[in-house]
Amino acid sequence: MMATIELNKPVCVTGASGYIASWIVKYLLEEGFTVHATVRDSSKAGSVAHLWKRAEGAKGTLKLFDADLIKPGSFKAAIEGCELVIHTASPFVIKGFTDPHAALIRPAVEGTANVLNCCNAVQTVRRVVLTSSVASIYGDAVEILKAPGGVFTEQLWNNTSSENHQPYSYSKVMAERKAWEICKNQSGWDLVTINPSLVMGPSLTTQTQSTSIDVMRDLGSGRQRTGVPMLEFGIVDVREVARAHILAGFNAKAQGRYILSAHTASLLQMATILRARFPKYPLPKKQLPKFLVKLVAPIAAGVSREFIEKNVGYALLFDSSRSTSGLGVKYRPLTETLCDHFAQMIDDGLLKKR
Ligand code: NAP
Repeated sequence: MMATIELNKPVCVTGASGYIASWIVKYLLEEGFTVHATVRDSSKAGSVAHLWKRAEGAKGTLKLFDADLIKPGSFKAAIEGCELVIHTASPFVIKGFTDPHAALIRPAVEGTANVLNCCNAVQTVRRVVLTSSVASIYGDAVEILKAPGGVFTEQLWNNTSSENHQPYSYSKVMAERKAWEICKNQSGWDLVTINPSLVMGPSLTTQTQSTSIDVMRDLGSGRQRTGVPMLEFGIVDVREVARAHILAGFNAKAQGRYILSAHTASLLQMATILRARFPKYPLPKKQLPKFLVKLVAPIAAGVSREFIEKNVGYALLFDSSRSTSGLGVKYRPLTETLCDHFAQMIDDGLLKKR
């Protein structure tokens, strides 16, 4: 099925106040769309003020709707009349919770089912773009050693995460699987997934709990000044991720999964790039040996030995050619992504001015 989306219809964006979704909403409003933006609580001025700011003077129109992932039916009013639904809402937290099911898996998986069941109920929807993740492609970095050709591609699925090991990754792969299963059992809409690696770049909001912001804060605050483990990430700019959702929404030929990943870099490489522009910050200067990380990190950072064993010391490679050739995404240089993000965190007071 090839979905053609009418440009005069409203577009629904779930989790609209979040780090990635705020950029999607901004671009849609600039392009003149009516955006049905869902948030958990639209009366919380602090978490939606940045969206209203983007709506001022934009060509498009912003409409806010209250919806909670764990409340069946709550997305129906927002989806009504939309042909395109961009479902980004899902918790992106990796620490600070005791019950991974309640914190991550239930809202991700049940939430995706609730949103898609609402799509079925309203019958105007032709395409759903789901924000999945590379966490749905692989669970631990060590899996790169067994990946065909030594590269992570859209063919692969994370089969190793569980509620107890990498619960965030488990929430993402189970949510994506649920989405494809629900999609298969209906014929009204098609599904496209965007599978980004670690998203970095400036945030339009300081209210987000996104782990993306924590990664940058940990690097710049001095918390890691004694050194970092050899942890490598695929990295992609939030602005490219937002654009990709819109391109995937309106390109009739878009189909399947799209890895979004522009570069790979270790924490130390990220710090080195940042130090050149922000020399006064206590960025880490060295890599800690794996045995030391294994000894210290379970206590210092609450990370399991199993996580360290399977993730520290592996170089990663992602094939994101579908995103460039199929969607037309153009990736900016890593330096720009990291430095823009760091500068914005200083401007917003999330990192001390030095
Ligand atoms: P974020 O700013 O924390 O956004 C998450 C959004 O989910 C928030 O808007 C949050 O709404 C919403 N949400 C959480 N629980 C909810 C619930 N029970 N009901 C309704 N909404 C709920 O994080 P983000 O980085 O932009 O993440 C957005 C999406 O991108 C997620 O699906 C995440 O898995 C995916 N992703 C992120 C990255 C990355 O590196 N950032 C990489 C790959 C994929 P509230 O404002 O109400 O809390």
